[in-house]
Amino acid sequence: MSERSREMAQRVEAFIRHTVVPYEQDPRQTPHGPTEELVLELRALARQAGVLTPHIPPGGAAHYTQRETAEVLKKTGLSLLGPIACNTSAPDEGNMYLLGKIGSAEQQARFLTPLVAGAARSAFFMTEPALEGGAGSDPSMLKTTARMDGNHWVINGRKNFISGAQGAKVGIIMAKSEDGACMFLVDLPDPAIRIERVLNTIDSALPGGHSTIVIDNLRLPADQMLGASGEGFKLAQIRLSPARLSHCMRFHGAATRAQEVATGYVCRREAFGKLLIDHEGVGFQLAENLIDLKQAELMIDWCADVLDAGSLGTAESSMAKVAVSDGLFRVADRCVQVMGGAGVTSDSIVEKLFREIRAFRIYDGPTEVHKWSLAKGIKRQHLARHA
Ligand SMILES: Cc1cc2nc3c(=O)[nH]c(=O)nc-3n(C[C@H](O)[C@H](O)[C@H](O)COP(=O)(O)OP(=O)(O)OC[C@H]3O[C@@H](n4cnc5c(N)ncnc54)[C@H](O)[C@@H]3O)c2cc1C
Repeated sequence: MSERSREMAQRVEAFIRHTVVPYEQDPRQTPHGPTEELVLELRALARQAGVLTPHIPPGGAAHYTQRETAEVLKKTGLSLLGPIACNTSAPDEGNMYLLGKIGSAEQQARFLTPLVAGAARSAFFMTEPALEGGAGSDPSMLKTTARMDGNHWVINGRKNFISGAQGAKVGIIMAKSEDGACMFLVDLPDPAIRIERVLNTIDSALPGGHSTIVIDNLRLPADQMLGASGEGFKLAQIRLSPARLSHCMRFHGAATRAQEVATGYVCRREAFGKLLIDHEGVGFQLAENLIDLKQAELMIDWCADVLDAGSLGTAESSMAKVAVSDGLFRVADRCVQVMGGAGVTSDSIVEKLFREIRAFRIYDGPTEVHKWSLAKGIKRQHLARHA
């Protein structure tokens, strides 16, 4: 941690609690996320308060360390609208990180600068429709193609679950050339990228929702490739761990807030002659929440330190993602339970967090895929030791 991140975290927390939380009942929130009008209004307020893109100082390429990022992103997460307001939300956070790490100076000026300024949103196009045998848990099943035609790439394929594609101005597309997986930058909207439909999903916090997309003969100049042809999966690894971890950070903030709301309820509400908190079955649930929250915080900080030391942190971020998403899901579930009927109404952040965090156990690698990948590592190390 550092002085700059401590100071920024305090400023962000004050902004979220005083300015963003009152917007939580704003009617401009749809099943497919807050409207663009609401996003722009919140971002203008964040800009005024000096907390827009708080973890990337002006210039764009100099991202806070992961440990510093954790301190700040946990605070933006205190409201589910906070990451949208402060521009620390997925998929933009991961996309900005990736562009800051590997984009050329020209690519950064064109695609990263408007993202950091909060003037544009972005989308990451990787997953493909399961029924067509495309990439999902297993990215090597990538079916979208990229072929050279003169000095241009021509891209064709279908994508699914693309968060924020509707309304995004910047896209990062994964496709495979004859060299292997590739990543491309694209200005959006583009007539060759068609949104077939926006899916109705359990979650509703991200602007634009999650879309099924058709990419039909998209032509991109060669300089819109990120890195080199065939390097797509290597580059995806750079984005993967920090992006996973930033979800953990934001949801830690949201779960902390849910615990505060649930605590407020059980310290006010009486049943059978005493406050709910004084019933051991309720008190224990909030105590277990405290333990899960602390364990999640420690996992996040540990993994952040691994990344800050220069490692890709693939195994560590898998462990953190499983432990934190499962742990925070338990927290959300207990908060719902101790609040009774109030826990399942949209009047409080608790019901919404429960839905959001359920989806998080699937995206950025389902729990089982992380465990499977860790098990492969265990086997590899065992065989190497006993060869
Ligand atoms: C809300 C949401 C937002 C998303 N946003 C984006 C986005 O912006 N961009 C993008 O590209 N993708 C996005 N995704 C897609 C997400 O990354 C995929 O859903 C995820 O990778 C799983 O792929 P799948 O849905 O095809 O599931 P499948 O690959 O069909 O897997 C189904 C289930 O099988 C099990 N499974 C799979 N492999 C194994 C294994 N090796 N061992 C044990 N069990 C296994 C797991 O339980 C898994 O959940 C999003 C998904 C959701 C739900």
